[in-house]
Amino acid sequence: MSHNHSLIRYISKQSKRMMTMTKYEVAIVGGGIAGLTAAIYAAKAGKRTIVLEQQKQLGGRAITNKKQGVYFNLGGHALYKGEAHETFRELGLRIEGSTPSVDAYGMWKNQLLTLPMNVSSFIQTPTLSRGGKLEFAKWFIKFGKMDTSIWNQISIRDWIESQLHDPMLRNVFYALLRTSTYVLAPELHVAGPALKQLQRSLKGVLYLDKGWGTLVEELHELAVQQGVELVTGCKVVAVEHQDQKVHSIICADGTKIEASNVILTTPPSISYKLVPHADQTALDTWKKQAIAVTIACLDVGLRRLPKPKHQFIYGLDQPILFTNQSRDGKPRAAILSDDGTQVISLFKYQGPQTDAEQDEEQLEQVLDVVQPGWRNELVTRQYLPKMTVVHDFPHIKRIEDPGPAIPEIEGLYVAGDWVSYGELLVDASVASAKRAVSHLLNSREDIKL
Ligand SMILES: Cc1cc2nc3c(=O)[nH]c(=O)nc-3n(C[C@H](O)[C@H](O)[C@H](O)COP(=O)(O)OP(=O)(O)OC[C@H]3O[C@@H](n4cnc5c(N)ncnc54)[C@H](O)[C@@H]3O)c2cc1C
Repeated sequence: MSHNHSLIRYISKQSKRMMTMTKYEVAIVGGGIAGLTAAIYAAKAGKRTIVLEQQKQLGGRAITNKKQGVYFNLGGHALYKGEAHETFRELGLRIEGSTPSVDAYGMWKNQLLTLPMNVSSFIQTPTLSRGGKLEFAKWFIKFGKMDTSIWNQISIRDWIESQLHDPMLRNVFYALLRTSTYVLAPELHVAGPALKQLQRSLKGVLYLDKGWGTLVEELHELAVQQGVELVTGCKVVAVEHQDQKVHSIICADGTKIEASNVILTTPPSISYKLVPHADQTALDTWKKQAIAVTIACLDVGLRRLPKPKHQFIYGLDQPILFTNQSRDGKPRAAILSDDGTQVISLFKYQGPQTDAEQDEEQLEQVLDVVQPGWRNELVTRQYLPKMTVVHDFPHIKRIEDPGPAIPEIEGLYVAGDWVSYGELLVDASVASAKRAVSHLLNSREDIKL
């Protein structure tokens, strides 16, 4: 990290001097995964590109903080084998980590029950009745190859209630879908993308060694290699346009940066604020239709697990998740500490009403059940009461899919996890970043540059 930080500081000083004089072909607001991905593809296409990030470090919500030898993401993160993974491979990123076993328990009335995740647990599980098991087996066989797009017009609640009959099986599906999408609004969530994400999660996810900060570092290095200018500590306050054409960016310190194309990777509400007269653009609709997904995250580093078998727990009657993301004796997952400390992530999936203290208490109670005596093993902890996982998701109240271009202003684009065409989470950030760049490169006006 330290090498990259000093590199950014150096680039920041250089860039602040240069950027007032240079006209950029592509300026990107926000240096998270979407911003870095967009920058790399724009620069690879030969465009003079700059990234402006308000924080002192790049990475946005994908940063990793090191605390007492433990690598904490901003809440547990898993990389699905979707658009982001594919793109990172295409870019040559190393992506070191491991796929944890799918073995899991369900938590029901504060009891842990094995879930039917393989043949032996299928036979032994007390979670499902005989009828429930038969129904599960029927779905399991056809699920992997199912064309999920046929369910794009209904909510995941309607899908579950119409397709599954056993009440406990429904609870299991709600828990599986919530875990792979983070969404606690089954009545709003479009079934097709949610089921596709579940298909992906059943193929196995990756927990990354030393956290998602490694992805950020690698994207950063690649961006530098491609000649992207990266400026941190630069808060953008306006994106100016005239005659329906974008022309410059204004930073909080008064710096003006001229740019013929701008990609906003900021949340929908901030993107709206940055653009004068946004009420007369599609940004207005996209801001109004957005529904953010938030969770409370408790991460703990434990010297050892009091109950080593309890590695992954789905809440069946409460919206919680417990996962050991780190490597134990047998390699379960990623290297997340320097000394073998086990790193556990717990989530409370949130609806519109949240209570920071109550959520923390609930997550600690889950730990008491799953890892009794955990307080005696505690090395370090991190509690984040309300993290925005995504700023919007494919829901049935959506009027239109956002982006990539803002049609009323030439040269202005959006990307980020809310700019989804059905992709979820970081897959939406990466896919939308690529869509914005490819749209920009193919637009006739851009060819005149
Ligand atoms: C707890 C948690 C768990 C998650 N788990 C997963 C998971 O398991 N799998 C998965 O795929 N995804 C997961 N995600 C989602 C994933 O982290 C995000 O989708 C992704 O990191 C978002 O990247 P982004 O670039 O779209 O947005 P961000 O990371 O938010 O980047 C936007 C950047 O813009 C900057 N910015 C904002 N305003 C300005 C301004 N005015 N001027 C300059 N810069 C500005 C911000 O500082 C930020 O750096 C999780 C997220 C959270 C919070």
